[in-house]
Amino acid sequence: MDVRKHLLHEMTRGAFEEWLKSEKRPVALIAVGAVEQHGPHLPLGTDTIWAVSICEEIAKKTNSIVVQPCWPGFSPHHMAFKGTITFSAETLLNILVETIDSLAKHGIKRFIIINGHGGNTEIVALAARLAKRKSRVYVAIPRGPSKTELAKKYADRALKYLEVHSGARETGSILIIRPDLVEMDRVKDWKPTTKLEPELMKLMNPEREDREIAQQVLWASLPHDTDEITSSGIYALTHPKDADLDEAKKRREEFVNFVVEFIKLWKTIPLEERQEKKPQ
Ligand SMILES: [Zn+2]
Repeated sequence: MDVRKHLLHEMTRGAFEEWLKSEKRPVALIAVGAVEQHGPHLPLGTDTIWAVSICEEIAKKTNSIVVQPCWPGFSPHHMAFKGTITFSAETLLNILVETIDSLAKHGIKRFIIINGHGGNTEIVALAARLAKRKSRVYVAIPRGPSKTELAKKYADRALKYLEVHSGARETGSILIIRPDLVEMDRVKDWKPTTKLEPELMKLMNPEREDREIAQQVLWASLPHDTDEITSSGIYALTHPKDADLDEAKKRREEFVNFVVEFIKLWKTIPLEERQEKKPQ
């Protein structure tokens, strides 16, 4: 049975039960992101809005459900900017582990976490590992595709222009789903505000022979808090107005297709048929 509503909190209990019964190998997508400053022009909920929207699209194509356990994530580095809400690492970890454990008790064995916020990365990975042991389920965090031309272009730009937060790339990813929430007027006179030592700037060169090392040294040396890097809250040397919407749509499609194919292939593996040990 194809469900009409994919967001768990919008489904009735009956609809959820019918979906669970009809899906031989049900998958729950967990969307997580952040409520944090995103420069002058993007909504505070950018990362969560992105994650939920991607999950809904994947869910429609795979008859999965989407769980949004919370709005904020782990964002202490953005707290100097107003509007940011941060959970502690432990809080976010517990939210994810307990969300998965609840759904595991209703019989779901396969979880996919889609994370929209870089600051959550390590916590999400640990939550996946702990939840697998605690609830005897399978938790995946698909990442890719990384070898396409566009993926390489994105990786080069992220390094060259430090295009990781609220710059052209992220602006594009929101403009294609919620243009009503973007206030481009607020950046019409914006000039790059990213300030790093010249030694660090030299590392931001994708053409370097020692690129891999240089990039890791860059990440190891970035200041702790966003306001130490950029007064406007945008870490990027590219202007938000340079967002390429066709490219943003293509990259989104690449990622959606990647996760859809992941789910199709994953569903060929008979995990539900395994005799699981009791959680310890
Ligand atoms: Zn973001």
